Amino acid sequence: MKISFASFKPMHDEIEYEIKFKFEEIYKRNWFILGDEDKKFEQEFADYCNVNYCIGCGNGLDALHLILKGYDIGFGDEVIVPSNTFIATALAVSYTGAKPIFVEPDIRTYNIDPSLIESAITEKTKAIIAVHLYGQPADMDEIKRIAKKYNLKLIEDAAQAHGSLYKGMKVGSLGDAAGFSFYPAKNLGSLGDGGAVVTNDKDLAEKIKALSNYGSEKKYHHIYKGFNSRLDELQAGFLRVKLKYLDKWNEERRKIAQKYIAGINNPNVIIPVEADYAKHVWYTFVIRSEKRDELQKYLNNNGIGTLIHYPIPIHLQQAYKDLGFKTGNFPIAEKIANEILSIPIWYGMKNEEIEYVIDKINAWK
Ligand SMILES: *Cc1c(COP(=O)(O)O)cnc(C)c1O
Repeated sequence: MKISFASFKPMHDEIEYEIKFKFEEIYKRNWFILGDEDKKFEQEFADYCNVNYCIGCGNGLDALHLILKGYDIGFGDEVIVPSNTFIATALAVSYTGAKPIFVEPDIRTYNIDPSLIESAITEKTKAIIAVHLYGQPADMDEIKRIAKKYNLKLIEDAAQAHGSLYKGMKVGSLGDAAGFSFYPAKNLGSLGDGGAVVTNDKDLAEKIKALSNYGSEKKYHHIYKGFNSRLDELQAGFLRVKLKYLDKWNEERRKIAQKYIAGINNPNVIIPVEADYAKHVWYTFVIRSEKRDELQKYLNNNGIGTLIHYPIPIHLQQAYKDLGFKTGNFPIAEKIANEILSIPIWYGMKNEEIEYVIDKINAWK
């Protein structure tokens, strides 16, 4: 059997007609930037996230960057980010001129460990970015309490967690503002790049709308030295089609995850946990083993596609060598990077494929 790490085919086959219809509609309308589709998607996605405002933008990295700029975070400031995340979380901070301050994750959930945040706060700290990594929300109540105590902005990086819940509440509604990515592989993905900011903060929403469109609220009147980062009409239209299916697709991911959790029993493999406060949406299903490289080779030899999210922690990336970190500085993030392996989890995976993955993992010695 051959099982690719990911496949969009079953998902896209199901909505092919609707997507093509939407394309025709927009093609004939001949309006491609900042139009009806974008406006409608923003309203629908804000409703979906249970917030008042949504601003479409170019991608998830821009969404985070726009939030930080919207809050005037820049040179001389510090922003707390998890040591275990995709590099975009830190890059958004670096783009503003502020400094990312890494805080280690909880090894059980892979998300930022709230008990380690306070010791990282200085008089320069302006914000905390909580990442809902792999589709599971961070422990937001505790993080919120700390943000409040030190008067810090609490920003969600929800790029991997569309539709996931924390104590019954949608991610995107848990902090001051949240950034989403619609990169095609994300739980809600466009057919290209896309992103969005969601927030209940009216002033921030208005400022970000302007910042993302050359800093203008009115054509050719520029209040800020803004950016060009907009969600184009085609992507907004495609996302409107896909948003209607998101809950169904997430449920399917949850079913696959439950089968994996019930079925994988190899003592040399650690399986992920769903925290009791969480409704996980399984952007990735991440297992762990001290002999990860051998496991990956074994699975690949058996036709099972795998990936590592992510093999090098940010503090050891060449791009961040200016921060002066070395191996050993963030041992939990390093241990995770050395041991994790993401296995296939996608809408349309067949039962026999799921069982084949389970059987192969269990047969590994
Ligand atoms: C994908 C991702 C981003 C960036 O989104 P892009 O649309 O690729 O710019 C940011 N943070 C996390 C955690 C991500 O997974």
